Amino acid sequence: MQARRRSPADAPQGGKGTQAAKIHRDHGLAHISTGDLLREEVRRQTPLGQKVEQQLKTGALVADSVVLDLVRGAVREPKVRASGWLLDGYPRTRAQAEQLHALLAAEAQPLSACLYLDVPAEVIVARLSARLVHPASGRVYNLEYKPPRVPWRDDDTGEPLVRRPDDEPATIRRRLDAFQAATAPLLDFYRAARLLHAVPSPNSDVGYVAIQKLLAA
Ligand code: ADP
Repeated sequence: MQARRRSPADAPQGGKGTQAAKIHRDHGLAHISTGDLLREEVRRQTPLGQKVEQQLKTGALVADSVVLDLVRGAVREPKVRASGWLLDGYPRTRAQAEQLHALLAAEAQPLSACLYLDVPAEVIVARLSARLVHPASGRVYNLEYKPPRVPWRDDDTGEPLVRRPDDEPATIRRRLDAFQAATAPLLDFYRAARLLHAVPSPNSDVGYVAIQKLLAA
């Protein structure tokens, strides 16, 4: 199995996909996920899919022009235009935000809000560092949801469990710092445009209540 390298603009366990799916369910907005659109290209092995397959495997960002074309195609669909839409996973950089702004101006479909899911670092560290593995078998445990019967021991063999280096709290904190540094310019962009809404999201349910309030307003 290939380890998935995460790009700095990749929020570890922020829960954006979950919240986007709920908004789609409850408000009928089309859910446009650039990750899903790219994975679909790979699944169908289109020329584009073949081109981006490796980048998706490693978690590297795909070229701006590629994602912009996908988003343009999606927001131009009459059904999507009519229902309104929610972008998930896009834009990820300030350059993408500027390109999106130009696209939406040309399409006369301006953005009404940008939601920033604000998940406390401690929550993310706790969530990710709860994962333990049994190296020989690859069996995965979770200290919160699926604890081993004996602490830090594999249920079948009794051998010690380990935490992957990626899941060490210090590593997670470094990834979070990188994420924050990478997204700061994006947040500045939407703050300046007066579109940014920070949603405190210590867990998915609390986050969604705040999102509902915002959407109602
Ligand atoms: P996750 O939720 O796991 O971060 P996504 O489903 O949003 O992942 O995206 C999966 C992959 O698709 C990313 O790791 C990246 O390779 C590519 N991708 C998605 N959105 C973008 C984007 N806005 N710009 C560049 N690459 C993207």
